[in-house]
Amino acid sequence: MRERHAIVLGGSIGGCLAAEVLSSVFDRVTLIEKGDFDDNLNERRGVPQEKHVHLLLLRGKQVMEEIFPGLLSEMERAGAEIADQGYDVKCFHYGQWKNRFHTGVSAHYCSRSLLDNLVRRRIQANPRITVLSKTRVLGLKFHREGAPCIQGVLLDESAPVRELAADLVVDVSGRGSRTAEWLAKEGLGEVKKTLVETRLGYASRVYRRRPEFADRWKVLLVLPKPPLNRAMGVISPIEGDRWLVTTGGWFGEFPKPDPEEFVRFLGTLPVPDIQEIIRDAEPLSDVMGFGIPGSQRRHYEDVPVWPQGLVVMGDALCSMNPLYSQGMTLCALEADVLRQQLPLWKQGRIGTQTIQQLLVQVIEPAWNMAVSEDMRFPETQGRRSLGLKFNHWYGSGLCELAASHRLTLQTQVGVTNLVVPPSQLFRPKIAVRVVLNKLRPRFG
Ligand SMILES: Cc1cc2nc3c(=O)[nH]c(=O)nc-3n(C[C@H](O)[C@H](O)[C@H](O)COP(=O)(O)OP(=O)(O)OC[C@H]3O[C@@H](n4cnc5c(N)ncnc54)[C@H](O)[C@@H]3O)c2cc1C
Repeated sequence: MRERHAIVLGGSIGGCLAAEVLSSVFDRVTLIEKGDFDDNLNERRGVPQEKHVHLLLLRGKQVMEEIFPGLLSEMERAGAEIADQGYDVKCFHYGQWKNRFHTGVSAHYCSRSLLDNLVRRRIQANPRITVLSKTRVLGLKFHREGAPCIQGVLLDESAPVRELAADLVVDVSGRGSRTAEWLAKEGLGEVKKTLVETRLGYASRVYRRRPEFADRWKVLLVLPKPPLNRAMGVISPIEGDRWLVTTGGWFGEFPKPDPEEFVRFLGTLPVPDIQEIIRDAEPLSDVMGFGIPGSQRRHYEDVPVWPQGLVVMGDALCSMNPLYSQGMTLCALEADVLRQQLPLWKQGRIGTQTIQQLLVQVIEPAWNMAVSEDMRFPETQGRRSLGLKFNHWYGSGLCELAASHRLTLQTQVGVTNLVVPPSQLFRPKIAVRVVLNKLRPRFG
């Protein structure tokens, strides 16, 4: 039997999840990362967002634990803090502090680099995976007789070989992926791109945790009431008894990476609590900034003749507004699609075009939610249908009700963590209250 080889392009969270899943189907997997895959200490230049708060939603956490069994306990041993999303998070949203009910939905709070380091160690320990670190993929190679089919990848001069053949190539090289460009160059079709422009920015700084707050809350979160406010702020615990403080916002509403401006900006959030706490905390890092134009999606599903053996996933496929904390969870859910579909692909029962279309089904609900929320700001381009206006009206009612109504908070947290179907937000016990609350001011 011929040996089967798969290549994964990109060694961040999505690439590691994909490589691990592929290793149970292929004889050999090669993961290619342009940065230093083995360096657990320094910043990864290819993943600049790792310096900012990263929340892993419950559904993403569950799937990652299935793919890497024992990952969560490793995170806990390394210092991740478990926090109930209702009880342990002191949250100001839609103009009021929320009551702190237990929701049963907990998150593991730690730095993004801790999570990625643990996952990368799993990859290094997997005998079926070879990592080509500090190696850049320069292009894709296709067989051109008959229907287009992937042949392999082209590598830069740091690699032991300049071309590497594969039966399957999975591009997980992030937002800056060049697959669309490479397909166009080969004459395999133009890939449409959608960008929902919201001019997002983040600024973050690490502080020593102030112990006097330990029994008050684990996370302090201030969210806006859009479109009136345009920025959020959070104090989030990370390993090493530290806080990662992040503020970010829409349409230019975020500070420059400057220490004084950072603290001043925190005072412009709807409540000044983060600023007051941080003023007396000891900074342990510089202020780090980040800006992106908005949510971006590439429509590979519309390419008429999709090359056999090619899959694009993670941020390379769809890179969402990070303020909704969905990116890593989508990577996990997409890796889960690979896990379910690759055995069928190997038997020749489906093509990679089918897999690519199934990935779209994973991202679509998250994309629609993110775009719908971004549409609350008048600057966001796009048509506001009647359905969207109703969603905004009902959604703001839900946020207001969740401040004091346990079931609404629990359901809302479950839905945003992708473990409860959104239809649950419309069940009578919640819907009646939302509507009555919304109508009350109108009728006194
Ligand atoms: C400020 C910010 C905050 C965020 N917060 C959250 C959050 O709270 N929760 C959440 O779930 N998500 C969050 N996200 C989104 C999350 O960071 C991404 O969705 C996630 O990192 C995507 O993973 P990926 O593996 O697809 O791509 P990336 O993490 O972008 O990694 C791509 C990898 O490919 C490598 N690479 C690129 N080109 C090549 C090449 N030619 N050859 C070889 N290697 C290459 C890069 O070096 C990099 O390692 C946030 C994003 C930002 C910007």
